[in-house]
Amino acid sequence: MPDPQEVLSRVFGFPGFRPGQSEIVQAVLAGRNTLAIMPTGGGKSLCFQLPALCRDGVTVVISPLIALMRDQVRALRAVGVEAGALTSGNTEAETDEVFQALDDGRLKLLYLAPERLANAGTQAMLRRVGCTMIAVDEAHCVSQWGHDFRPDYLRIGELRQSLGVPLAAFTATADAETQGEIIARLFGGQTPETFLRGFDRPNIHLAFAAKDQPRKQILSFITARRGRSGIVYCGTRARTETLAQALRDEGHPAIAYHGGMEAELRRQAEVRFQQEDGLIVVATVAFGMGIDKPDIRWVAHADLPKSIEGYYQEIGRAGRDGAPAETLTLYGADDIRLRRSQIDEGLAPADRKQADHARLNALLGLAEATGCRRQVLLGYFGEQAGPCGNCDLCDRPVEIFDATEAVRKALSAILRTGESFGAGHLIDILRGNATDKVKARGHDRLPTFAVGRDMAKSAWDAVFRQMMGRDLVRPDPERHGALRMTDAAVPVLKGEQPIHLRRDALKSTDRPAVKAL
Ligand code: ADP
Ligand code: ZN
Repeated sequence: MPDPQEVLSRVFGFPGFRPGQSEIVQAVLAGRNTLAIMPTGGGKSLCFQLPALCRDGVTVVISPLIALMRDQVRALRAVGVEAGALTSGNTEAETDEVFQALDDGRLKLLYLAPERLANAGTQAMLRRVGCTMIAVDEAHCVSQWGHDFRPDYLRIGELRQSLGVPLAAFTATADAETQGEIIARLFGGQTPETFLRGFDRPNIHLAFAAKDQPRKQILSFITARRGRSGIVYCGTRARTETLAQALRDEGHPAIAYHGGMEAELRRQAEVRFQQEDGLIVVATVAFGMGIDKPDIRWVAHADLPKSIEGYYQEIGRAGRDGAPAETLTLYGADDIRLRRSQIDEGLAPADRKQADHARLNALLGLAEATGCRRQVLLGYFGEQAGPCGNCDLCDRPVEIFDATEAVRKALSAILRTGESFGAGHLIDILRGNATDKVKARGHDRLPTFAVGRDMAKSAWDAVFRQMMGRDLVRPDPERHGALRMTDAAVPVLKGEQPIHLRRDALKSTDRPAVKAL
């Protein structure tokens, strides 16, 4: 059977599973009857689409809305998956095509409108084409008391029994009564493997910090937790080695771990981490999959994680025992630049690159959040929550200020220099530093020259970083480090849209904002 993780990234282009998905996918793949309750937007469709691709035969998907089915079929076909729908909205040609694909044994997912189940031929047809699983979307439609009861859903249980195949039911409705009805009507009263889990891990404290002196920031976070086990995630293999050494120099028991190490060394590191109290592992994301250590007390990110999904997975390794655990995630303009250029320079098609940029924007939105961080995190996974009282922003709310003028000055400096320069040079212009480069290009004669001398270099660093974080400017993939304005910046430049930034990031000292670790 294909590796689900590999299919996830190759077919769907996702860097990792969302909370809950991997467990559900495993149960469905193994052919167990499954009931998954997940908030809307949590990523339910993937939990049956991915297993359908990995399993033999056809997966039948029952869904109440024709529009929804057509959307999913379109999206699946766009990534090269053989999917089709039989609904009343089909043209004759579409229906013929679906039957042709079924007869050829090509089709992996067959979306079926529930009304079809009333049709006498449907069961025989499904048996003939080799249906090996039934997935039911919006399974609460089987509930007679709910607001969207669909009588045809009552036929699904009968279909399951007559085909003798496993059934996976999905819904966002969590109340016990609806669950009971689903179990009675879809599963014939036999309790399926049930997944009902909020995404929240309330014992994990969340905190982010802008990179200032990253090595020092990480060291002081760890020194304050001396003797406790934890993981530091780094963006590169080389950095895991240098940071592990720096920690040992400070008297911490620390070892490096990355995918480039020999398998035997990696295995030894895993065993030591499981067994030794207080050991620190400095690792790339290669570390953690098979680790089951309940008392990891902290997780730090020395570099920005790859995605919110990755962030959640990595911090989620802390505090599995339910006792308080802490996290710290560092991020800087260099991370944003690196990530953008990795996306731009990758081989993915344009729409996938766009989706990757949007996902990066969501992560940066979490990093530069202005309200409760957990609310932002859970909101991304579709879960509503109040302020948590266990994150840096609940501990210490940030001050927001109107940065519209500063941002407009920065955008103007970018445009007047032909979108050809990086933040360092632009900040020299804004602050009126007549460096050799500034003079050589005549940039000391620009109207923008020195219009930003009232703000410190570090304050400008923070403004540029937040502008990148909000995708107002992007590094030009063709010209390393040069910033270009995006469409999102146009209304700001025109003065039509105010921009509020976080004040906390704007310090008055003039230290460089980013130093090599
Ligand atoms: P639901 O049916 O639970 O409301 P969807 O299946 O429509 O949610 O998924 C919501 C969004 O999450 C979709 O845009 C989907 O592409 C995205 N998504 C699902 N799984 C992942 C994943 N593992 N990583 C990133 N995005 C995902
Ligand atoms: Zn909070």
